Amino acid sequence: MSKKGELIAKAEPYVHVLAYKEIDKLCSFCFLPCEKLKKCAACGLVKYCGVVCQKADWPIHKTECPCFKESQPIIPTDSVRLFLRIIIRHMEWQMIDMMLSTVTELTKDHMTLPPAHTLFSFFGMMVINTFSICNDDLQPIGSGIYTSPSMLDHSCDPNAVAIFSGKTVFIRALKDIPDTTPNKMFISYIDQLKPSVERLAELEEQYYFSCECSRCLDTDLAEFTDILSQCERNLEKYSNLAEYNIYRVRLLDLAFDSCINLESWKKGLEYGLQTLAPYRKLYPTNTPNLSLQLLKVGKLQLFLEKTDKALKTLQEAGVGIKVSHGTEHNLYRTLSELLAQCHGELNGKT
Ligand SMILES: [Zn+2]
Ligand SMILES: [Zn+2]
Ligand SMILES: [Zn+2]
Repeated sequence: MSKKGELIAKAEPYVHVLAYKEIDKLCSFCFLPCEKLKKCAACGLVKYCGVVCQKADWPIHKTECPCFKESQPIIPTDSVRLFLRIIIRHMEWQMIDMMLSTVTELTKDHMTLPPAHTLFSFFGMMVINTFSICNDDLQPIGSGIYTSPSMLDHSCDPNAVAIFSGKTVFIRALKDIPDTTPNKMFISYIDQLKPSVERLAELEEQYYFSCECSRCLDTDLAEFTDILSQCERNLEKYSNLAEYNIYRVRLLDLAFDSCINLESWKKGLEYGLQTLAPYRKLYPTNTPNLSLQLLKVGKLQLFLEKTDKALKTLQEAGVGIKVSHGTEHNLYRTLSELLAQCHGELNGKT
């Protein structure tokens, strides 16, 4: 049993990396702000608040340091640096294993890179288990891999929360949790202030699973109805906005998408059509965004049997797609099939 507000676990990262954008503001080891950071004399990339942190980071930094020095002026991305640290940690363990299990002469040359399939599974492990380490404003400042908190599953209605202080993570109970076995505790991996479709897509893309929490299971359509009515209210409220005002176009776009999700085809087409003039003006000629919008509207017109209008819209989309994608591209083939369907239906009528 954990009471609301109780500390359930505290953990230090197995590996962690400070985001490059923070490198001049925060200590690369403890992630705390420091006015007078001292940089590593050898690579000049990582910076520490003092000798204590520099020493604590040295066992792992001593291996990556020459790599950073060599790659300059190119700075490896944050995820590449994190991946490098995972490999270094693994090799350290390999070294310890060898020390414990063998009496043969031990040199650094004994250490070899793990085989490709192991590297690949490390990469998978990194993608799924990486925590975004946040500052007090909940803004990401780095990433880390923690062994125990990674075992907590996701829910969009979590009963626990991961809070960071520097690089240390604290898992606290948001509600009373009667059963504190890991599979009964949930934290949220994503921002809950997103419609369920976006949350599901993000979880699928980043963590390879489909959320089955109560919020995700029963609110899809209600959410779209809600979004649509809010868009409509705002479009009316701000009806004095210029036709090409970007925020007005975003509202129209959102209303267009909501209608499609709600299968309100006719209303959707009205909103879609209203986006075309601003799209033509705001996007440079032949850019994919404009062509794709035309394609979407054209398909809807075709579906609603406004075939002659669909033909015009799709032809305009085709001109752009031919330029931006080329005629060999799949999208151009899809478009050609739709055009053929238009011609077929129009010829059938006459
Ligand atoms: Zn520090
Ligand atoms: Zn260094
Ligand atoms: Zn969910």
